[in-house]
Amino acid sequence: MNLEFNNHLYSDDLNITLYRASCQSFSTIGNCVIPEGSGTEAVVVPHGPLWDDARRKLAQWSTIELRVEITTNFIDSEKCRCRFKEREKCCRSDCPEPTPVKVVTDFILDGSVTFESDLLNLLEVAKMKVIEKIQEATAANDDRVVFSFEFFPPKTEDGVENLFDKMERMVAHNPAFCDITWGAGGSTADLTLEIVKRMQNMVCVESMMHLTCTNMPVEKIDHALTTIKSNGIQNVLALRGDPPHGQDKFVQVEGGFACALDLVKHMRAQYGDYFGITVAGYPEGHPDIIENGLAPEEAYQSDLAYLKKKVDAGADVIVTQLFYDTDIFLKFVNDCRQIGIKCPIVPGIMPINNYKGFIRMTGFCKTKGQIPSEVMEALEPIKDNEEAVRAYGIHLGTEMCKKILASGIRTLHLYTLNMEKSALAILANLGLIEESKISRSLPWRRPANIFRVKEDVRPIFWANRPKSYISRTIGWDQYPHGRWGDSQNASYGALTDYQACIFIQNRSLLAFMRPRSRDKKLQEEWAVPLKSVEDIYEKFMSFCLGKLRSSPWSELDGLQPETKIINENLGNINLKGFLTINSQPAVNGAKSDSPTVGWGGPGGYVYQKAYVEFFCSPERLTALVEKCKQFPSLTYLAVNKEGTLKSNVSNNDVNAVTWGVFPAKEIIQPTVVDPASFVVWKDEAFEIWSRVWANLYPEADPSRKVIEEVKSSYYLVSLVDNDYIHGDLFAVFNSI
Ligand SMILES: Cc1cc2nc3c(=O)[nH]c(=O)nc-3n(C[C@H](O)[C@H](O)[C@H](O)COP(=O)(O)OP(=O)(O)OC[C@H]3O[C@@H](n4cnc5c(N)ncnc54)[C@H](O)[C@@H]3O)c2cc1C
Repeated sequence: MNLEFNNHLYSDDLNITLYRASCQSFSTIGNCVIPEGSGTEAVVVPHGPLWDDARRKLAQWSTIELRVEITTNFIDSEKCRCRFKEREKCCRSDCPEPTPVKVVTDFILDGSVTFESDLLNLLEVAKMKVIEKIQEATAANDDRVVFSFEFFPPKTEDGVENLFDKMERMVAHNPAFCDITWGAGGSTADLTLEIVKRMQNMVCVESMMHLTCTNMPVEKIDHALTTIKSNGIQNVLALRGDPPHGQDKFVQVEGGFACALDLVKHMRAQYGDYFGITVAGYPEGHPDIIENGLAPEEAYQSDLAYLKKKVDAGADVIVTQLFYDTDIFLKFVNDCRQIGIKCPIVPGIMPINNYKGFIRMTGFCKTKGQIPSEVMEALEPIKDNEEAVRAYGIHLGTEMCKKILASGIRTLHLYTLNMEKSALAILANLGLIEESKISRSLPWRRPANIFRVKEDVRPIFWANRPKSYISRTIGWDQYPHGRWGDSQNASYGALTDYQACIFIQNRSLLAFMRPRSRDKKLQEEWAVPLKSVEDIYEKFMSFCLGKLRSSPWSELDGLQPETKIINENLGNINLKGFLTINSQPAVNGAKSDSPTVGWGGPGGYVYQKAYVEFFCSPERLTALVEKCKQFPSLTYLAVNKEGTLKSNVSNNDVNAVTWGVFPAKEIIQPTVVDPASFVVWKDEAFEIWSRVWANLYPEADPSRKVIEEVKSSYYLVSLVDNDYIHGDLFAVFNSI
């Protein structure tokens, strides 16, 4: 671990204290001495019993945010140039007394800080590797199919945002994992790293990063690996890589690796079994050995023998190159088994989306020689009709997958080329997904990050802003209890703290970071002239009635299916000046696989209390509070921008508003209304008026004033109807 020091500090007597950064609260975990190093940089070599103790504590905390505090004495060199250690010999009468100083360095374990690798190895690692997912599905013995999607890094920022929009929709179908390619020659290294971090931590899907050796000295390889490791990513597709553009042959870079085998060996030697390692397999032989469309038998066998070496060196899954002749794939699997390759071999399926792309791709991969003649014959008459080619591609992909599944192989890897339709259509044809039956394991998507897998309770306030919630709770370490521990001490990252967060692109403010596509939608739908507050009511109502797709208060696309059950009621109260930003209908024992309100898979029953959250004027709040007296089942929390709180519950009353009952499980209650979190959320909710909505207008636009007036005078109100059986939450708004 390298730390920067002020050059007045001397290392001999430094004491270092590590703290856990649990947002505001820090607690000491141990001390260790820095035995050597001085000047602007010192190498900290933690050792001794205290350090051992610290390591034990770190293992329990699973934390990735740390503070290092160093205490020492120093002499002001402006006043005296003698070195601290030589002070006794100093002859100056005005030589100042040494002053104790403290240096505090906060950091998050990411690629830029190489913390001793054994530190992260101490962290409890959840079972999230691709191999474990495949093994789990196989062990279930219920014909389950493991499917996954591959994406590549787009060239433009808009492309990246579109990709994430697509990914969100595709991930809703529960792929076992998704992977992102590494641009040829390392051309997309930084982008691939950013995307994979966001996939794992924000899209919340188990993610696998491709990593190639092209142009990658070992330091760069390690930078990529430590970066993803510290971001909770456990899966890597280890590749040699193709030559960069303009070169024919792969050239080993100085200090780098010659082939994927070397990379696999390095990963196992350096990182033990932290990573799940996948490698590439070539049913038709690697392009380098293909001559005139075919691999000579001898070369094919040597390719296979080499593949076995990759597996023997520690790879635990093989994903294959694309192919269009299923028999060739099945023969390849058989050949692998013959030579003792036992790990799962996952077929790579690339649906044909358009004719030219298909010809280019099969030419590049040299699979052209082995495309069945009936495929070429079917494509020839329709090759200029993109729609027909795509339909044929879906048909062919479906038939190929059926044959593979019939052979007993239960894994499918779809090369999506960043397009969703064909991949999803194939899975739908196979009966593996159903649009109306998108199942959610919880009402919110469970994070894939290994540090958060045990989380199972969230405050309802961020229901439409899950990414903001994740970013504000980075580093929480109390998920072993499933939740944030003591709700009174819910230490959320302050809005301005986001700059410090790890997986934030360009270190911008994530809470207010909206994809550009979202910004465009907001601009189109919300940047309209506002003359009065009634124009604001109208906007909120339109969103609730489904006339707008975007809302400044939501990261999601349009209304949630359950909101449509109550959207007319919501529209009505918005017109009355109760500007709703979050809601859920009451549910009393709906089946847990209900397409609108279900979660947790089939076989259970789900429940929820009616909930609505809105902004309203102080006058309307007074009227509402008065009316609430006639509705004893209602509980409310109201707060204005300044923090004046009005409520009919105690600050400690955490209210479960969603829960589920499942066979052979304890009751799960994933969503709560928590007063302490509400006070934290209100800052974000009020800030959205200015930062997201008002900012859509030019500086001097009068609409900004209307927005700012509402922001500064209104209350944010959270209202629950606790009678989820007979209650009518909206009745309280009648005649207000
Ligand atoms: C599923 C999949 C994903 C891919 N993703 C990417 C990506 O994200 N980015 C990218 O740039 N490329 C990607 N590729 C392409 C891949 O990088 C190229 O095919 C590359 O030429 C080979 O990579 P490899 O890992 O298979 O290489 P290796 O496993 O190292 O093998 C390359 C060839 O060399 C031979 N070989 C190497 N060493 C030996 C040896 N010691 N003894 C005998 N034979 C040897 C192998 O038999 C094989 O023919 C992907 C390929 C596949 C199948």
